[in-house]
Amino acid sequence: MTVLVFVENIDDELSQQALTFARGLGDELHAVLIGAPAVPAGLAAYGVSIAHLAAGLDAYAPAAWAQAIVELVARTTPAAVMGPGTDRGNEVLAHIAAKTDQPMAANCMSIAAGDPASLVRVRWGGSLLEEARLHGSPMLLTVAPHAVAAEMVAEPADLVLEEFTPSVSNVDLIARVCERASAVSAGVSLTDADVVVSGGRGVGSAAGFAVIEELAELLGGAVGCSRAVTSAGWRPHTDQVGQTGTKISPEIYIACGISGATQHMAGCKGAKKLLAINPDGEASIFASADYAVIGDLHEVVPAISAEIRKARSA
Ligand SMILES: Cc1cc2nc3c(=O)[nH]c(=O)nc-3n(C[C@H](O)[C@H](O)[C@H](O)COP(=O)(O)OP(=O)(O)OC[C@H]3O[C@@H](n4cnc5c(N)ncnc54)[C@H](O)[C@@H]3O)c2cc1C
Repeated sequence: MTVLVFVENIDDELSQQALTFARGLGDELHAVLIGAPAVPAGLAAYGVSIAHLAAGLDAYAPAAWAQAIVELVARTTPAAVMGPGTDRGNEVLAHIAAKTDQPMAANCMSIAAGDPASLVRVRWGGSLLEEARLHGSPMLLTVAPHAVAAEMVAEPADLVLEEFTPSVSNVDLIARVCERASAVSAGVSLTDADVVVSGGRGVGSAAGFAVIEELAELLGGAVGCSRAVTSAGWRPHTDQVGQTGTKISPEIYIACGISGATQHMAGCKGAKKLLAINPDGEASIFASADYAVIGDLHEVVPAISAEIRKARSA
């Protein structure tokens, strides 16, 4: 069975995991690379026999990249097309599904061949596993991050490189990356921080984040927030923690004025400790909290900062 894997970057662990996962289903592994900066020498080590390199599509454009893969599928007729369960992997595979009118299963943990194939996949930001059947030809799926460990093959075959030029319409290029801007940030990043002080709707306003920023700075941490906050325009999306934000694993997560919705918790469940501050003792965040302060963050957070300052000046 031939399996085609959309490889975002062979140096990236999640693409390596997708190739490892694909070997469990197919005995002939093809890779497709689009906008790749260099010839992917490392592919053979993960069992790829043929690498298809799409020419002329350097900037990321999900519909155009999907169109390139649709054309390749028509020529090579793989039994399955897979990608890593990354933003791009899921987006490109979803476009392939739309273009070919086939179902697509995102974030799969395991798959057993069959007609239809049986699979287990991650749903709801990791809070449940779903057993499902996948119909369609080819099968379209992405591999959940860390569903398998990346493993090289014992005896890599010679890698054949085949370049192709897809015919992409202007409509497929409407959504594309035109330029990149680095996020302006002072201090430690959300993903690297040992301490994250996060604010939710309970903070009340953009200006209300002054107390959150102050505590984060005192602790050498980063500021996070919930989606209610980014939706209100109080903080940029880069600060959002959760299923559709950043997933973090600090030593301690200090959640202020956050109710604890499943989609928020999906982003901070990797935290070693959780301190929640909320006046509503019934808030669901307390079910996950190691430490709880039932109170108004506008009183509690400045009080913590003041105590830290006092202790440091003593
Ligand atoms: C597909 C999808 C994806 C999503 N992705 C995300 C995501 O990535 N991240 C995310 O956060 N959400 C996400 N959401 C939204 C999520 O469901 C919640 O709506 C959101 O997390 C709620 O944010 P919140 O806790 O700040 O607000 P609320 O749920 O309104 O909670 C506010 C809390 O503040 C408390 N509060 C009020 N006043 C004070 C005070 N003075 N001091 C202290 N506490 C106070 C209240 O008691 C309440 O518990 C997603 C939703 C969907 C459907």
